[in-house]
Amino acid sequence: MGLDIIREISHKYGSNPNYVLAGGGNTSYKDEHFLYIKGSGTSLATIENNGFVKMSRKSLDKIWEKTYSKEQDKREAEVLADMMGAKCKGEEAKRPSVETLLHNLFIQPYVLHVHPTMVNGLTCSNGGKDTMEKMFPNAIWVEETEPGYTLAVKCRERIGEYEKRTNTRANLLFLQNHGVFFAADNAMQMDILVDEVMDKFKKSITTLPDLQKIDFDVNKIEKIASKIKECYEKDVYVKFTINKEVERLCSSYDSFEILTRPMSPDHIVYCKAVPMFLESIDNITGQYKKFVNENKYEPKIIFIKNIGMFAIGKSEKDSLVVSDVWMDAVKISVYAQSFGGVRHMAPDMVDFIANWEVESYRSKVNLNQKGLKYEKNSKLYCKSR
Ligand SMILES: [Zn+2]
Repeated sequence: MGLDIIREISHKYGSNPNYVLAGGGNTSYKDEHFLYIKGSGTSLATIENNGFVKMSRKSLDKIWEKTYSKEQDKREAEVLADMMGAKCKGEEAKRPSVETLLHNLFIQPYVLHVHPTMVNGLTCSNGGKDTMEKMFPNAIWVEETEPGYTLAVKCRERIGEYEKRTNTRANLLFLQNHGVFFAADNAMQMDILVDEVMDKFKKSITTLPDLQKIDFDVNKIEKIASKIKECYEKDVYVKFTINKEVERLCSSYDSFEILTRPMSPDHIVYCKAVPMFLESIDNITGQYKKFVNENKYEPKIIFIKNIGMFAIGKSEKDSLVVSDVWMDAVKISVYAQSFGGVRHMAPDMVDFIANWEVESYRSKVNLNQKGLKYEKNSKLYCKSR
């Protein structure tokens, strides 16, 4: 019953691009003993009951009593191992989100975690916390923190403080430069809460992105796209976008500058930390090589002055995802103007997310004792990838 309800909540919000892009976000249902959290590799829009990972809440709670290594990589691996160990029998093949611990902090049975563009207009703004306090006096704010155990610890403290101070249950939590958590007792209450929050955003946002399409010379764009493709080592797909907002942003490097530092982890995970800006279409290869030399990766997003935006993907679908996620960044940069301007991610957070892959240390940790296997390079971030 509860699983059916969370499945429906997941489908509803997961299939709406205003809430979920590129398979991001996660949901959970809990009863007294178990937490059912969306598993990695599933998408909210299409998840079935068996896409949720059944976990022992008692085992998850034990994580708070333990002392973990002070060394970050080691600590995250230890916590991850304990989290994997909290899965119930029969769930061995599934992989819960690293945000599982956060879901278990809310008392309410239903939890929805998403990264809506409008909400991130606030969480990625300079006036984020102050505005949130005015708009949502009963919400909790958590400043930018590296994902994983550290974030879970901070959220646990904040929720604990809030519940002690107000003697009420927390049901709304904003994560700076990241997204939002909603918690409710049933589907109807979830809808009421989400609608209430989104309505306030619609009323508070005074500057909207101008997404009006602009005609372009198809032949010219195709020629540029094939020049771009030639630069890449492997076959790539290129998706071109031009609208009024992109036109404004690519009119000069000064206008584009706001996009040169990431606003939320999604942008790094899908589009890399830095996009490329070309002043002209002369010597695309040379400018591309210079970019790769400086950044050590091939650009996923290229803005060309007075021409438009090119999103590069490994497949056609991937190029569409890259394009959508970058348009999310574009929209956030505009929405944030209503809340005191853009607040970019802190440089150390950018490095953290950019490097946050299951790599050398984690593969060395003896997780196999518990029969666990980790794919190299699999992400711990809350995406289904
Ligand atoms: Zn998230």
